[in-house]
Amino acid sequence: MSKEVTLFEVGPRDGLQNEKAFVETKDKINFINLLSQAGFKKIEAASFVSPKWVPQMADGFEVMQGIKRNPDVKYAALTPNLKGYERAYEAGVDEIAIFGSASEGFSQHNINCSIEESLERFEELTNIAIRQDMPIRGYVSCIVECPYDGAVEPEVVARVVDALLGLGCYEVSLGDTVGKAEPEQINTLLELLLQNFDASQLAGHYHDTNGWALDNIKVSLHHGLRTFDSAVGGLGGCPYAPGAKGNVDTLAVHAMLEEEGFSTGLDEETLMHANDMMKSLVKDKQ
Ligand SMILES: [Zn+2]
Repeated sequence: MSKEVTLFEVGPRDGLQNEKAFVETKDKINFINLLSQAGFKKIEAASFVSPKWVPQMADGFEVMQGIKRNPDVKYAALTPNLKGYERAYEAGVDEIAIFGSASEGFSQHNINCSIEESLERFEELTNIAIRQDMPIRGYVSCIVECPYDGAVEPEVVARVVDALLGLGCYEVSLGDTVGKAEPEQINTLLELLLQNFDASQLAGHYHDTNGWALDNIKVSLHHGLRTFDSAVGGLGGCPYAPGAKGNVDTLAVHAMLEEEGFSTGLDEETLMHANDMMKSLVKDKQ
């Protein structure tokens, strides 16, 4: 099995979106430019969501247009609806992400509709994206636990993964949104998912609330997963998931992977610079 692991840096979007502070456009651009030098193949740079809902991400267009593009990096953006997609396309993103929840309670609280409705709403968007050769990534949230409904059934996660792949996603990122999943639960979930899907279609997105994220990544590596989402500085919780802490810290994942004999292609020194830059930006504003 391959020893190469892709870390999908989600700090500029999933990270900053969920921080209280608004980080200035020019600072976001500098942050992404620094990340672009660190060796990431994928950076989630923006979200094209209504600024009314997520003011932190209102400058997605300016950010995408302002960054210095590294041809080796794919810049991704979250697109919750068709309008967002069109804006993302215009801004020149390399790939988009859509999302669904594995918990009805989370779906209702977060976007005011059922899981099924939320996925159906993406159909028009994904049809257009496919026609425009735009790669689509899927996120499924609450893969083990929901802040409203409690435990989530692995079978429901499997159905949402299936639906997202059916919409044209090349990969589905499995989100432990509240960050309380334990390695044994991830193991059980992956055993089920891998009966139906290939490991190359799945990515891990584990929050580190209870300190299990690195162990959850290890379990996932064992099952053949080779893509993981992380954020420099462990940025971002989830405003819709009370008590949720941040994404797993990119530096910590990188260190663990190197120790386990995997390679990420990342430059540690640049990562540390990015880490320092982001910490000072977020701290200054709080
Ligand atoms: Zn996250």
